[in-house]
Amino acid sequence: MAFGQPKVQYKTIDQMRLMRKAGLVLANALDEAVAAAVPGARTGDLDTAFAKVLAQADATSNFLGYYGFPATICVSVNEEVVHGIPGERTLQDGDILSIDGGCIIDGWHADSARTVIVGPADPADVRLSEVTEAAMWRGIAALASGTHVGDVGGAIDDYVHSVDGPALGILEDYVGHGIGTEMHQAPDVLNYRTSHRGPKIRSGLCLAIEPMLVRGSIDTAVLSDDWTVVTTDRSRASQWEHSVAVHDGGIWVLTAHDGGAKRLGELGVTAVPLD
Ligand code: MG
Ligand code: MG
Repeated sequence: MAFGQPKVQYKTIDQMRLMRKAGLVLANALDEAVAAAVPGARTGDLDTAFAKVLAQADATSNFLGYYGFPATICVSVNEEVVHGIPGERTLQDGDILSIDGGCIIDGWHADSARTVIVGPADPADVRLSEVTEAAMWRGIAALASGTHVGDVGGAIDDYVHSVDGPALGILEDYVGHGIGTEMHQAPDVLNYRTSHRGPKIRSGLCLAIEPMLVRGSIDTAVLSDDWTVVTTDRSRASQWEHSVAVHDGGIWVLTAHDGGAKRLGELGVTAVPLD
């Protein structure tokens, strides 16, 4: 298309209900991957735990085979920001890792990520993860209060720059996205404020909101495995992600067990189920 923005796939309520099915399986699978993340575990063990839940639910992985990606989750440890490949690496005390996974049920995708710290944690890493997660919830809440997709990035940006303490960087090289019959759809969901407002927020819009924050420079590089993204200054990173649906009644977080009720409630937003 020469002009305008890529077309957004707006979903019907029934399609969003199918996405919720995928979202709940994914939430359960991430629970198991997180539980497997202990000192001494191999990152590949997390992948095994995750894949088992998908198999039990007859869900398909949307990561496995994606441009040749060899696993069902990405596990990104310490200075690895995203797209780390799980394998033989053994987790050590104090490692901070993001676990990013997805699944497909009846052709509909879900995508979600969490950050975990194993063993005794550096308080600066705890803060990094907590601010990243809180920023994600601010971005999700903006889907209820805002008018355009750009409001999501504005809310994330404002929050990250409002917290006390050492500045955290918001990654710009990787962003959130629309989600539906493919994992990655229009529109891009930036995690920072720009003058570009993006598409209007309206019923049927489903977005994966995924801020990635770093303790140092936001410059990144891709390792020789052609996947793993690291910070060039080796500073540590965190990623949190949920897939969210906007419907006539409000918003519902497809990949949160409670639809986002608790965390959105703390921000004054009522999460509204899809029924
Ligand atoms: Mg993801
Ligand atoms: Mg994503």
